[in-house]
Order: sequence, then C-alpha cells, then structure tokens
Amino acid sequence: MPKTMRAAVLRELKTPLKIEAVAMPEPGPGEVLIKVAACGVCHSDVHAVDGDWDPPPGLPLIPGHEVTGHVAARGAHVQGLKDGDVVGVPWMWSACGACEYCLAGNETICATGESTGYSKPGGYAEYVTAPAAYVGRLPAKADLIGLAPVLCAGVTVYRGLKRTMARPGQCVAVFGIGGLGHLAVQYAKAMGLQVAAIDVADDKLRLATALGADMVVNAKKADPVRTLKKELAGGPHAAVVTTPAGIAFDQAIRSLRPSGTCSFIGVPGRDGDRLPISIGKVINGELSLRGSNVGSRLDLAEAIRFAVEGQVKVTVERQPLRAINKVFERMRRGKIVGRVVLDIAAEG
Ligand code: NAD
Ligand code: ZN
Ligand code: ZN
Repeated sequence: MPKTMRAAVLRELKTPLKIEAVAMPEPGPGEVLIKVAACGVCHSDVHAVDGDWDPPPGLPLIPGHEVTGHVAARGAHVQGLKDGDVVGVPWMWSACGACEYCLAGNETICATGESTGYSKPGGYAEYVTAPAAYVGRLPAKADLIGLAPVLCAGVTVYRGLKRTMARPGQCVAVFGIGGLGHLAVQYAKAMGLQVAAIDVADDKLRLATALGADMVVNAKKADPVRTLKKELAGGPHAAVVTTPAGIAFDQAIRSLRPSGTCSFIGVPGRDGDRLPISIGKVINGELSLRGSNVGSRLDLAEAIRFAVEGQVKVTVERQPLRAINKVFERMRRGKIVGRVVLDIAAEG
C-alpha cells in the first residue's frame, strides 16, 4: 500500500477544495479500506463546504458520500467481506446499532451515528475507510460510475417516497429535478405512481419527461400550486421536496389534495429554514408532513436493486477529481442536469 493518497481537501469553510497528498487511512477494528472507483457530487457536499448547516463539518474535510469501490484491506474482526468485494459507502457512515431508533430500523436518525464526508473523511479521495457492517453491497460486475449516486441520491428519494405512503396508481409531485429529483421521478414510476415534476429550469423538466414524468411544471412560468390542483383534480396524493429552495416546501404542502402527505428531503441553508404553514389547512385537509433523512441499510439494499435491475438509471456526467470546484460552482447556480460523478479510478 502507498503511504499517501490523492484527495480533495477543504481546509477552511467557503474556500475551494485543494487536491493534496494526504496520509493513507488505515481500517480500524470492524472497518474496511476501500479503493474508491467513483464518487457522486451531492448538493449536501456544497452545503458542507459552504458551512450552511449547524453544526458545520469537522476540518480539514474530505467531502463525498456517494462512494463506490473495492475492498482493498480489512481491519480486525471484519466478517462477511473479502478483498476485492464491490461495495458502496453512503452518507450514513455508521450508527450505534443499539438505541431505540436503530432497533426500530430508523438507524438514519441515530444520535451517535457518523456521516461520511461530514464527520468522517469521504470519497473525494483514492481510499476511504468504513465499518463493514454499514457499507452497501454491490454486484461484482456493477457499473461503479452509474451506481455511485444511488448511495445517497437514490436511497434518499426512495425512502422519502416510501414515507409518503403513496400507493400504486396515486400521484406524487416531485419538487426539484436535480440529482435527487431525477431519480425520484424514476423510483416513483417504478413504484407504480403517476409523477408530476416541478423545477425552475426547462432542461431539468425535459429530462423528467424523458424519464417518464406524466406532467411537468416550470415554477418560474406558472404557479405550481394552482397548476397541480387543476390538472390533478384536487392535487397530488403525495409530494417529495428535493430542492433546497425554501419556496418549494410551502408550495408542496399547499398543492396536496386532502389527506395528502409530503416528505421533506431537500435541506435549505440556515436562512431559509422556516416555513409559513396554515395550521388550519393542515387540520382541515388532514395533511401529513414528514422529514426523511437518507436511508437505512435495508432501504439502500432495495434502492440498489432497482438500479441493478435497470428500473432506475442515473443520468451521469463524468468528471475528474480536479474539476470539483467548477462542479460545485455549477451546482450552486443550478446548472447541472442529472448527477456529476467523479471518476476517481480513471486518474489512477
Ligand atoms: P441539485 O442541485 O442536483 O438539485 C436541486 C434542484 O432544485 C435543481 O434541479 C434546481 O433547478 C431545482 N430548483 C431550484 N429552485 C427550485 C424551485 N424553486 N422549485 C423547484 N426546483 C427548484 O441538488 P441535489 O443533490 O439533488 O440535492 C437537493 C437537496 O437535497 C439539497 O439540499 C441536499 O442537501 C438535500 N439532500 C437531503 C438528503 C436527506 O437525507 N434529506 C440527502 C441528500 C441530499
Ligand atoms: Zn447526499
Ligand atoms: Zn443508534
């Protein structure tokens, strides 16, 4: 094993990442060392480097939590994985496995869990370590570029859709057709739902249509609440919000038909983290609002299966690690269609 590896490192919040040679991580007990093949670029990485959330990430930080790669070494007491196995590292780096949330399968809200690329070093690097018990298992011949975004974007929208309790034949509105949203459209279709896609950019909406969305609304050109209420005879049964834009959360709730459920998935920065909700409308319509935080290991295994079977396909733009700051800049301006995946292995 080499002594150092290449990684994109954040030294100070709101500054560009620097490509550096850093010490190779070593797998602790129960952990595996993974040679990273690919890492998707999630908007949460932009929130992390911009210090949008409280608490901010630990510095120096190697971001990235849509990781695919191969097991390169194992720490002590690792069971069920061998060198060369194909794995993925999600945002949920670990959970305690013993609290009431973990025991109930809600390990995503475990208070002592660690987060990849936030509280632990992430996948914008040649190698990463992760607990063997929490990595996703991928097939031996997996497309490691195409599957990387399933490790966050995919599993997150899949759980968010499940948490709306929408049944086949019902309609879900997806607010925000970015990295998460373009997968939400596909998971929703695969789950037998009708899909309305809402964004503020026509190129995102064209992609949604190509991926099977039944209707699209450009929220810059038409009021999505009025349009959805009218076109869907009273509004969608469910909504998922997959944009950080604060206005979309309010619109999603107001568009719901009575008895509808909305999953909040996008995470605004500190300034936009408040919502003007009509309490009366929530009561009279018996509306449900749910938060949805990434996904459990079971959600991940299910989300991966949809992708491996071809029901969900990430629209990928491949980029080298050194392009990361330009990718972040485009993401801040909403200029990425689908998902950028860093091809870490290609640069060797
Ligand atoms: P992205 O930048 O790829 O996509 C965001 C999309 O929102 C873009 O297509 C943009 O055009 C669209 N948008 C902007 N303003 C809009 C508006 N007013 N109405 C509708 N759409 C609008 O981002 P992403 O990687 O898909 O992540 C989206 C959000 O989800 C981020 O805040 C991210 O941190 C969050 N996230 C949450 C979880 C979770 O567990 N809850 C997991 C992953 C990501
Ligand atoms: Zn993410
Ligand atoms: Zn726990």
